[in-house]
Amino acid sequence: MFQIKNKDSLGRTGILKTKNGIVKTPALMPVIHPGKQKINVKKLGAEIVITNAYIIYKNEELREKASLEGVHKLINFDGPIMTDSGSFQLSEYGDIDITNPEVIEFQELIGTDIGTSLDIPTPPNVTRNQAEKELEITIERAQESLKYRNEILLNSVVQGSTFNDLRSYCADELGKLDVELHPIGAVVPLMESYRYTDLVDVVMSSVTHLPDSRPRHLMGAGHPMIFALAVAMGCDLFDSAAYILYAEDDRFLSPSGTYKLENLQEMPCSCEICCKYTPDDLRSMEKKERKLLIAEHNLNISFAEIRIIKQAIADGNLMELVEQRCRAHPRLLEAYRHLANYVDDIEKYDPLYKKSAFFYSGPESLKRAEVYRYLNKLYKMPKKSRLLILSSSRKPYSTYLPEKLGKLYHIGTSTKSGDEDLQIMFVDIPFGLIPLELDEVYPLAQNESPVITDETACEFIKNLIEQVTEDYEEVIIEGNLNEKFDLGLYCEYEFKEELKLKLDEKDKITSVADYQFGKGAGAALFESKLDIVKSKKTGKIRHVYDDAENLIATMRASDGFFVLSKEGARRLHSRMEYPQNRVVVNQDSEPFAREGKSIFAKFVIDCDRNIRASEEVLIVNENDELLAFGKSLLNSAEILDFKVGQAIKTRKGGI
Ligand SMILES: [Zn+2]
Repeated sequence: MFQIKNKDSLGRTGILKTKNGIVKTPALMPVIHPGKQKINVKKLGAEIVITNAYIIYKNEELREKASLEGVHKLINFDGPIMTDSGSFQLSEYGDIDITNPEVIEFQELIGTDIGTSLDIPTPPNVTRNQAEKELEITIERAQESLKYRNEILLNSVVQGSTFNDLRSYCADELGKLDVELHPIGAVVPLMESYRYTDLVDVVMSSVTHLPDSRPRHLMGAGHPMIFALAVAMGCDLFDSAAYILYAEDDRFLSPSGTYKLENLQEMPCSCEICCKYTPDDLRSMEKKERKLLIAEHNLNISFAEIRIIKQAIADGNLMELVEQRCRAHPRLLEAYRHLANYVDDIEKYDPLYKKSAFFYSGPESLKRAEVYRYLNKLYKMPKKSRLLILSSSRKPYSTYLPEKLGKLYHIGTSTKSGDEDLQIMFVDIPFGLIPLELDEVYPLAQNESPVITDETACEFIKNLIEQVTEDYEEVIIEGNLNEKFDLGLYCEYEFKEELKLKLDEKDKITSVADYQFGKGAGAALFESKLDIVKSKKTGKIRHVYDDAENLIATMRASDGFFVLSKEGARRLHSRMEYPQNRVVVNQDSEPFAREGKSIFAKFVIDCDRNIRASEEVLIVNENDELLAFGKSLLNSAEILDFKVGQAIKTRKGGI
């Protein structure tokens, strides 16, 4: 029903199948008012729309037409239609005259594609008692609606007001039900009052407890300002009544805010409407006519933003887009900063490799999942006893090693001298300290930051050096770093003989393997005598063979990670303990795996919980016999949760 195509952060592009066609997500669903709709939203790019089943039900004429001809005829839209149940009316007017079974049966009758049970939208900041009571009704009704649904896909709305634990509890409970989509409800008041930080809490405490295989709909989010941030938190669907409500008020939507017609000297974008009319043209029109034109602009720019987000996910620079968008308003920037508190959750979903380089756009970038992941891994890497910290110049560092070292300081003492047991690391923003051996690994090599360092970044480096120093007997630091990062060092150091800096190739391949597959992988893969083959053109390591000319692994030029060969997969499998690096498939799919066919998620029965998307993995059966190896397309939680679509792109079978 739902499949992921591309991933970035918690965001994903996907395909949602309904009986009236597919929807490419993230998607924006324009709200259609039955009987009043004047704008052809399909022409403007809508793949799916949302309308209100309760409004249709309440109006005799509409109800009769919808019952006889179906909701698609009624609102003149032949694609997928989602219907809301009347919960909004319930929250606005306090009472409605339809029951939950009735509204589900009515949605079946009118042939909607995605229907909704009658949840209780509990607003923010009510008493806990109220939130709990209403939540129980919401969950009961979600359960009850399963008895009355026949063909429609079902929405089960996450409620719980502004109590994060109630949102999580609700998500857990609804996740157990056999429903297909999850709106996150009652968030409009938060957005209307710019409480985006609270919105982050509500969304994150819901999303992290919902099944990954179901689309999530941020209900009532129709302003393009919020789309990128919401997608980065894992939202797949949006609905917009905003396009018409803002137009009613002579307001133009844009991803960087809202413009009022009365203040406009120039039209705010380059859509058809903005190219055809001037602000004066619009001001001199009848309100009715003008409203439709502004609404059309509002939809144009909202769909454009969705397209930009989809492209960013495909390119792997969604967070760069989020960082740009969140600078449009201080409350949004605050929310983005707050999102960093969820980095542990986000990191699990962030692919290991992306097509784009990491761009540093300010201190917030230091809190991104890539940095968090790298530092966690760095602390776990095997260590030498002495550390030499150098300032970075050009990347890759190993190609531009300094000929001579300038003034040096040191902390601690060692009986060793020269380069004996000496680890070299480079200081760089945003990843802090990078071992010489990892200087080609994504994204440690593929990033850009301003040469002029901001204060937060300086503080980050200073703290990191202080922290890392504790793990070594002796740390030798370049003099200019002492000044730049205010390290306060005074013990000068000199190597007894002039040190010739160089990269040991065996160290490099071992370190990369340990970094990529876990501690011990380097020894597992590269213990024997080796033949390391380099590219004639670039001089970089390409292939590693054993002394009998069997290929063990290939270092990929784009990201500096290893792709295994059959021999490499065997070596890794024999030495790394179960379940490390493994995806376990069931008996039925074993022959297909052996043939090298890709692995579908429904055949996976277990896997290493540390697997991220874009990771090289071993494919084994229930007895841990190695069948094949390949690249994960999803992370471990997604692999285990999805029942449709590919999980692993197999590189080779027949082992
Ligand atoms: Zn426009």
